[in-house]
Amino acid sequence: MAEEKLNEIDGDSFQNTIKNVLEDFEFRDAQKEMMEYVKEAIDNSNYLMVEAGTGTGKSLAYLFPASWYVLNSNSPVVISTATIALQEQLINKEIPLINELWEEEIKAVLIKGRSNYVCLDKYYDKYNEHTLVDTKEARLLKEWFSKTNTGDWQEIEGKISTEIWQEISSNSESCLGYKCLNFKDCFVNKQKRRGANAHILITNHHLFFSDLKLKVEVGESFGILPEYECIIFDEAHHLEERALYAFGAKVQRKEILYWNYEMKRLLGGEPDFESERSLKLERQVHKLFNDLGKDHFKSYLFKEYPPSGFSELSRSLQKIAYYVEGFINREAQNPDKIENLANAFRRIQNNLDFILDTTKEDYVSWVEVNNKRNQYTLHSNPINASWHLNEYLYKNVDICILTSATLTVDDRFDYIKGKLGLEDCKSVIIPSPFDYKKQSAVFVPKNFPKPNENNYEDALIEGMLNLIEFNQGKALILFTSYRMLDYVYNELKERVNYKVLRQGQASKNEILKEFREDTYSILLATDSFREGIDVRGEALSLLMMDKLPFAVPDEPLIKARIEYLEKQGKNSFFSYSLPEAVLKLKQGFGRLIRHRNDSGIFAVFDCRIHKMPYGKVFLNSLPKCKIHDNFEQLKVD
Ligand code: SF4
Repeated sequence: MAEEKLNEIDGDSFQNTIKNVLEDFEFRDAQKEMMEYVKEAIDNSNYLMVEAGTGTGKSLAYLFPASWYVLNSNSPVVISTATIALQEQLINKEIPLINELWEEEIKAVLIKGRSNYVCLDKYYDKYNEHTLVDTKEARLLKEWFSKTNTGDWQEIEGKISTEIWQEISSNSESCLGYKCLNFKDCFVNKQKRRGANAHILITNHHLFFSDLKLKVEVGESFGILPEYECIIFDEAHHLEERALYAFGAKVQRKEILYWNYEMKRLLGGEPDFESERSLKLERQVHKLFNDLGKDHFKSYLFKEYPPSGFSELSRSLQKIAYYVEGFINREAQNPDKIENLANAFRRIQNNLDFILDTTKEDYVSWVEVNNKRNQYTLHSNPINASWHLNEYLYKNVDICILTSATLTVDDRFDYIKGKLGLEDCKSVIIPSPFDYKKQSAVFVPKNFPKPNENNYEDALIEGMLNLIEFNQGKALILFTSYRMLDYVYNELKERVNYKVLRQGQASKNEILKEFREDTYSILLATDSFREGIDVRGEALSLLMMDKLPFAVPDEPLIKARIEYLEKQGKNSFFSYSLPEAVLKLKQGFGRLIRHRNDSGIFAVFDCRIHKMPYGKVFLNSLPKCKIHDNFEQLKVD
């Protein structure tokens, strides 16, 4: 029986088994300990939070008991991560290793969202209309289509436009389900079938929550993931933010235009189709969405700048849905597609009404502004995800493991537990196996201007130059704003003899490659380099931050969260801004020591760490290492 067998493995047998197949495998107490906690949670059908420091080898520590579980039960395990890099690492590196440990094969499948796959029905529709035949993109697409075994957009990404892909990719609204003539060959269904036979399903947080929502709102059969009782969230510090987006509603110009185009395509041939309706909708949509961007250079809250005219758009969508429905029972060629079309207009109308209703206390309505792309999106998101997580997830899943290197603040889980509504969850900290006292030094200058003082920028440049010369480059510098990044970049370019790289000058992978290859180079970046990058060895032996990474309070969701907490009588700084900044600082620090042979300096040019009472929360949250507050002392040590 599964339970008896589960009791047979322990941390030692796990590491011994790996050592048998992987000669250079290093025994790690931290990994063994984590594996035993995960196994215990699985054995007892429990929930568990594990903060595992860098170098623990946490993915193997959960994969081993997870694979044991799936081999001894009839139920799969879902593993959800925040980044593609981790999904690829699991599927390409760690699952093959796990497979060497067992006699029976562990079938693992990477599960992607529908929109990654071509919809055969749509593709054949386009192809038959010859609308793609004469363009370069169409030729590329057809050539790819004739060869693909997966139907996956990643194979052609970058070679065709997202607009063309949107026209032929799958989405749940237009899918005909079992009524589709291509149901058997459909790539989405093939993925579903692979998933149904898999032991381990690897996916991302966004897809995981969207799938959950779809199943609850539309029906089990519309989901992509099969039934499961055990879920493992890696990079769990991103869970709440992804849940807030997935459980919200949004409306974009392009989706209305897409369905309007579909209406013309499906009904345009009907003798009494009124094309004026479609034209009117198109004009209305362009006008309203263009107005959203007028005089706005960044995202904003509805309550500050209420957008106008969208109630009329809601009425137009309602009328169009009703009008389209009228074609279903005529002898139209595609009644199912017409029904889907009407449903799509209704769904957009419902989402729009939901967003326009600003009386909902726990939600915030806002406009996302992307002037570069002339793209403006209406959103309504819950401010707190715990209710949704309880209703949709926790009530239905027996075993849940949440792990990350950054879950605690001041060695406590209270903040993350509160955010996720898991106050009673068992939680453990597995310290990193690295010897941070020997391998790293923290430098926070004490006699230094505060970030809001006039002489801060000059002092910052001098402070950074000192450290760069001392370390001979080999530095990553993380900024809280592009303005400061630009300023420091321009200064360093003129004043140091090392190559200075900056985020945005090439793709992230290309920049990192250059940074690794030119050991002495210096890389300047913002938040997207704060986590998920792995540069081992000397090339990253100095990590600097300009100031404490407090979030900008005028970002709509942050502003809404702060107001919400204040309304509840809470101190938003201590209950939100501070813990968020601490987690970001920890993520940044995590870039420095990636291996037991690495060593380096972590510097933060923000004297508030010494001067403000909350400063010690930052220091207490970092691994234990020596703190220096002046440069001379750092040099001597
Ligand atoms: S089943 Fe749905 S996604 Fe698949 S080909 Fe048919 S319509 Fe497209």
